[in-house]
Amino acid sequence: MKGIKRDGQDIDECPGCNKNVIQRGVYCKDCKKWWHFRCQQTTKDIVESKYKNKEYTCKNCKNLEEKRNNNTPKRKRVKMEIS
Ligand SMILES: [Zn+2]
Ligand SMILES: [Zn+2]
Repeated sequence: MKGIKRDGQDIDECPGCNKNVIQRGVYCKDCKKWWHFRCQQTTKDIVESKYKNKEYTCKNCKNLEEKRNNNTPKRKRVKMEIS
């Protein structure tokens, strides 16, 4: 599964807190950033069950998308990431 955070790979900065996402994180397919679960106000368990086999979209991108598609909300496929 692509997008899973692996140990020892490049260090990615979480846009939410500007700290590195080293172990636990979720990858947003839209902004292509790694987020901490807590910076998305979620947990690994929630993401795991909700985004099973789907790509994750972070809250930021969701908001932007909602604004863009004001009247025509589109369902996008999401894939989740876990460490
Ligand atoms: Zn963070
Ligand atoms: Zn995003």
